[in-house]
Amino acid sequence: MLNLIMDMYSKTKSVVKWKGKLSAEFVDEMGVAQGGILSPYLFKKFLGDLACNLSKQWGVVVDELTVLTHLLWADDLVLVSDSDYGLQCQLDNLFDYCSKWQMIINNLKTKVLVYNSGVTVMPNFNVGGVPIEIATQYNYLGNLYSTIDQSRVIKNYVLNNCRRALFKIRKLCLPLGQVPPSLGLKLFDSLVMPLVDYASEVWFNEEIAQGLEVFQLGYLKRLLGVRPQTPTLAVYGELGRHPLKYRLEMNKLKYLHRVNNLPDTSITKIVYKKLELLSEFGADSWFTDAMNLFSEFEKSCNINLDVFCKKNKESVKTMLKNYETKRFTTKWINDMDAITDDKKLRTYIKFKDELLFEDYLLLTVPKVRIAISRFCCSSHNLAIELGRHAKPKKIELAKRLCKKCNVIEDEMHHVTACTLNSKQRESLYSEVLKYEPNFISYSNAKKFKFILQTRERKLLQAFGMFLYKSYPVS
Ligand SMILES: [Zn+2]
Repeated sequence: MLNLIMDMYSKTKSVVKWKGKLSAEFVDEMGVAQGGILSPYLFKKFLGDLACNLSKQWGVVVDELTVLTHLLWADDLVLVSDSDYGLQCQLDNLFDYCSKWQMIINNLKTKVLVYNSGVTVMPNFNVGGVPIEIATQYNYLGNLYSTIDQSRVIKNYVLNNCRRALFKIRKLCLPLGQVPPSLGLKLFDSLVMPLVDYASEVWFNEEIAQGLEVFQLGYLKRLLGVRPQTPTLAVYGELGRHPLKYRLEMNKLKYLHRVNNLPDTSITKIVYKKLELLSEFGADSWFTDAMNLFSEFEKSCNINLDVFCKKNKESVKTMLKNYETKRFTTKWINDMDAITDDKKLRTYIKFKDELLFEDYLLLTVPKVRIAISRFCCSSHNLAIELGRHAKPKKIELAKRLCKKCNVIEDEMHHVTACTLNSKQRESLYSEVLKYEPNFISYSNAKKFKFILQTRERKLLQAFGMFLYKSYPVS
């Protein structure tokens, strides 16, 4: 085995590929093979004695038995100390260790973060005599750490990552024109959601979640083809989506389960236990936030922390997914119930009663699909909506009239009564009659509800065409 590994490293040659061209072969005598399956293991073995060369004397005391001197992931190393003198000693130790084993410290990537708002004069640090910059933020393993305003920094960082992913989605979808909503959601879930989820169990807070939600809503509205002012309740309703906050809170609870199942010797578990202890003295922390979330969950699902922690990962995942859906659905229904007759979506609540991805969104002709989305979400040009936004003053409800029929021009009037679109209505109704022979005997309110609640693809297609041709959703 040893011979095999030695052969692998002594007989391998490297080339550099740049702009499609290959360089001459050369022998690489430093480091492990890039991308090799064995490489992380070999590197870990090679660095096995690093801890022995860092002095516990200068580490950070976590508890009676644990002193933290460093965090190491492959070749990404963080040294920690609670004094500037201590940190410089650790840097000196590291430099000696690296010199001995012919390893190079990348000075450009090496930075110091000082977590102490009381410091007025920053100390100096160096590695082997080369000064190190004191930074206010640093990216370690894809997480951004900042010594000032951590919440805002993380929000911008995650948002920028998400925007980049969205740019990639747009580029991918360019040949498709208007992206079908089901595909758009799938792309969002595969390319953006992992960036939202990453380390969210640690950084999540309301402020960051709100920033991310504005981003998600913008995307969902573009997917539906509705105006930016469209009520969010309808956007979630049509697509069957939840605000990200609900998902992020579940990530936190998933992590609570994970931490509790770590061995007692794990640093994360030790810190968790410390935070638990501190909470007894009234100190707010990640622990208290997680417990607040858990107590809501406990009430709703009737399960205590011990039982929750003993469940396996898969059943926790299912349980939390169901809880997330139940929680937001309940809120969505309550918000729908609270809509009064003078508010936007006054018509929406008459036909929409379930938070789910609507069947019409699967229609393949974008103009037909978007016509229905705009009509349902009050993103249209009927007098009932235009009057709401009239300048300088909004027009009172009773005066938002159809110019032809001189009655209130709302969604139901448009579909079932307006004489302006009798011709289009004729062809729509002839399609409806194929599914409901008694349709003509219905009241207008019943006719309206029947059409708006249909799941028949052909009928949805006819309805979309009716809306598209009868103007109000331009
Ligand atoms: Zn009319």
